[in-house]
Amino acid sequence: MSGTTWEMVVGLEVHVQLKTRTKAYCACSTTFGDAPNRNTCPVCLALPGALPVLNAEAVTLATRAALALGCTVHERSLFARKNYFYPDLPKGYQISQAESPLATRGHLTLADGSRVGITRVHMEEDAGKSIHDRFPGMTAIDLNRAGVPLIEIVGEPEIRSAGQAGAYLRALREVLLFCGVSDVSMEEGSLRVDANVSARPLGETTFRPRTEIKNLNSFSNVEKALELEFQRHVATYEAGGTIAQQTMLFDAAAQAVRAARSKEGSHDYRYFPEPDLPPLVLTPEWISEQRDALPELPAARRDRWGRVYQLSAAEAEVLSATVELATYFDAVATAAGDGKAAANWIMGEVLAALNASGAALADFPVTPDRLAALIALVKGGQLSSTAAKTVFATMRTDASAPDGIARRDGLLQVGDDSALAQWIDEVWAEHPTEAARFAAGEQKLQGVLVGFVMKKSKGRADPKKLNQLLAARIAT
Ligand code: ADP
Ligand code: MG
Ligand code: ZN
Repeated sequence: MSGTTWEMVVGLEVHVQLKTRTKAYCACSTTFGDAPNRNTCPVCLALPGALPVLNAEAVTLATRAALALGCTVHERSLFARKNYFYPDLPKGYQISQAESPLATRGHLTLADGSRVGITRVHMEEDAGKSIHDRFPGMTAIDLNRAGVPLIEIVGEPEIRSAGQAGAYLRALREVLLFCGVSDVSMEEGSLRVDANVSARPLGETTFRPRTEIKNLNSFSNVEKALELEFQRHVATYEAGGTIAQQTMLFDAAAQAVRAARSKEGSHDYRYFPEPDLPPLVLTPEWISEQRDALPELPAARRDRWGRVYQLSAAEAEVLSATVELATYFDAVATAAGDGKAAANWIMGEVLAALNASGAALADFPVTPDRLAALIALVKGGQLSSTAAKTVFATMRTDASAPDGIARRDGLLQVGDDSALAQWIDEVWAEHPTEAARFAAGEQKLQGVLVGFVMKKSKGRADPKKLNQLLAARIAT
């Protein structure tokens, strides 16, 4: 089969931690990084007789995520027990939604405009954590995570390259962040990816057996692991071999994909309906309230910015990097009535200032209204763009209004004829040769003389007025 062109087929299963204050079925805190086992109670420790109570906030966030992914949210869904033994799973099962999930059939739009189908979004809970490096020869168990609410987002096998898988994850992360349903931090484990991959000759219409790669802790590792595993499938087929459905692990240190020791693929989870939780019933009114509460999603914002403000795709990309930045931009653009100027200021001075100080946008002293007021001064001709940058720098430590700062610091542009004439007279006296040549008709000296006046006025001379006054001196 050599000479065959092989196509990669990928479907991702993504677990996302919901941003709730408390766990899915008990009132324990979800705070990351607390002392081990501090955030536990009879429910999440699975003490006999303890009963779960569903966290309403988790349902709200799961529903918003599903709606943002264009899914149909079902009015009735069911919880089920997914049974397996693991030391960090005290109940011996996870409460999940197997047969009857919260939501189905949505899609995600990637940055290049391509769409990938979402099979389902369902609610689950996290397990605890086994810590192997805390005590020599022993494994420690931390149950702070046990019972933390998750959603699983299962994607259709419609991804066709490692790069597209990365783009899918970036788009997904962005949607979840903008909706405020999760912090989506891979470092804190609030987004985890299982990547399913298979290979087939280009043009073949059926799917071949897949392998599932677990333990992926960064988007670049997902791409790397997919590439390696795809190559292994291809090499196996080209050597006349077959691929069996199997669970693989990515070893980030060795940058290698290896078969998992246990045959996780062959698990029988013995799902059955959770007897301690009633069916989850949502009214159509409540579901549509959640839809109405969704913020404008990043792709839609970028689209609007292109249409309304003529921002380029690259500019829109920068400004939609986070929900905070996008909201800040929208506020400045609206208040200033000028999206292009708002974009230039934010991509220039604001981002530079934030990078330099490491401060969060929420604490940034130049609020959207203040930046809009500064932009208005430039547009109104009271400030040159250079002077405006000086005012902006002062605004970072001085809460006064920008026009007050500009006046106090003598930065307002001078368009007053008599002041300008005074500066011109002084330049005439100091540079008689250039002045004489200009007056005799040597147009090209106008720029030189403008430069002299600008220097003398410390950049405050209104360049338009100045040029008019200078031109008038040719005739005299
Ligand atoms: P299971 O129920 O065993 O988890 P699913 O059919 O739900 O299996 O698929 C799990 C994931 O694997 C989905 O994200 C899906 O897109 C992906 N997937 C299914 N078949 C293939 C395949 N042949 N190649 C690559 N990915 C696949
Ligand atoms: Mg699955
Ligand atoms: Zn608890």
